[in-house]
Amino acid sequence: MPKSLPLLQPFLAAGILLVSVSVMAQTVTDVPLSDAAVRTKPAAQAAAQTAAKAASEAAKRLPTAEEIAAERARLERMRAALAAERAALEQYKADLVKRQQEAAAAAAKAKAEAEAKAAADAKAVGSAASIPPPAKDDPVSVKNLSPEELQRQRQLAIERAKAIEKAVAAQKAADAKKKAAAATPQTTSPKDKDVATMKLRRITHDKVRYVHLRDVAVNYGLTFAYTKKNNKISGAVIYDKTRKAILSATYREGTVNGVQVHFLYPMLLKNSEPYISEVDFLTCLDPLLRNKTPVKLGMKTIMVDAGHGGSDPGAMNGQHKEKVYTLQIAKRLQAQLEKLGFRVIMTRTGDTYPTLQERAALCKKYKPDLYISIHCNSSTNKTPAGIETYRAVPVGGTETKGSKVKTEKQSANEFDANSSRLAFEMQKGLVAATGAADRGARHQAIYVIGNATCPAVLLEVGYLSNDAELKKIASPEYQNKIVSGILAGLAGYGSFLR
Ligand SMILES: [Zn+2]
Repeated sequence: MPKSLPLLQPFLAAGILLVSVSVMAQTVTDVPLSDAAVRTKPAAQAAAQTAAKAASEAAKRLPTAEEIAAERARLERMRAALAAERAALEQYKADLVKRQQEAAAAAAKAKAEAEAKAAADAKAVGSAASIPPPAKDDPVSVKNLSPEELQRQRQLAIERAKAIEKAVAAQKAADAKKKAAAATPQTTSPKDKDVATMKLRRITHDKVRYVHLRDVAVNYGLTFAYTKKNNKISGAVIYDKTRKAILSATYREGTVNGVQVHFLYPMLLKNSEPYISEVDFLTCLDPLLRNKTPVKLGMKTIMVDAGHGGSDPGAMNGQHKEKVYTLQIAKRLQAQLEKLGFRVIMTRTGDTYPTLQERAALCKKYKPDLYISIHCNSSTNKTPAGIETYRAVPVGGTETKGSKVKTEKQSANEFDANSSRLAFEMQKGLVAATGAADRGARHQAIYVIGNATCPAVLLEVGYLSNDAELKKIASPEYQNKIVSGILAGLAGYGSFLR
């Protein structure tokens, strides 16, 4: 007998007793609550007490080796029975799926035949209801199998069930696709005009080039209208059934399809006519109004940049560090993207600090199709909350939080139009998924997105300085919402790609 066994004995004894006590307890509670049962309840309680007493007395004596062996054998038998039961259940499930599939196939066949024949004949054709119910499993035959054979059969049943599930899902998807194709008439989305072929009146005002907003509306098939405040023109709106852009004559903030969009300049009113800056038109408004990008770009490889890290904690609120949450969200995003078949390159996977130059160099080296940098916002004031999405500042524009006109071209400026749409879709997706305040699609001189070699955005997913928002950002549930928002943004951006 192994030396350690005496130590185990009290536990085994307790186990035996627990089983017997629980069996007794069950017997007691299983009695239906009739009057008779209520009357016999004291008797049952007495029985339970007696059993407990016997149990405590028995506990004082250690079980013999025979008792232990018997208990072990009993447990082994229970385990084998359980395995057999499980195998039987798996088999039953597999059979059920198969029968359902057969029934569905029979139903589909019947339907096809019914369509070919007269309607009256159709009723005679077999349907799912004519399939006999599944036969009961024979537990005896299962019990007689060796554990190895049971395991093998169970594995086979699981594999079979999986294969069937997959086939059923594929068939369902194919059917749904067919149905959708049949239901919706094949309308091709309206063709986008090439900006170069559009007739647009242009003027220069204060060294900035502008295009006539009414002409823009005409070229996109949109209706133009002024917006008014206190009987004075406050801005303009251009719209149709699916698109709506609102511009302000005072502020740079506007909205496109309900999402806040920061333009580079306010709308200009000159000689009582409305204008939009040419750079806003080309790098912001046009990409949001058109159906498809004029430039063919992919989105297979995505670089995910978790902001800060290592020696750089980023924003802080008490012990909460931005670098921790950016990495958690980035890793969740990575997992989801990889599940969807994207190739993901992380700028960091641990608590390290690649410099901004190193992050930009990674982008240049791996040439991803998209660059997504994840950050959390912060303010000296505890009130601000909500989400912002940043893209690089187009040449000739100003930062959302600044007024200096950018003159030097950066690598990301090759992709201004795509970044505009990407930022818009990200902002839209994130706000919808989280319910957070919409602080808009913006543009700012941020090193990593300005020096990206592809469309690039920086997401400020919320304010760490706001205690309520910090609490959300720190929770896995909210982080998952953020990831869902990013995925929705990617889907939106994907619909824009040619
Ligand atoms: Zn940051």
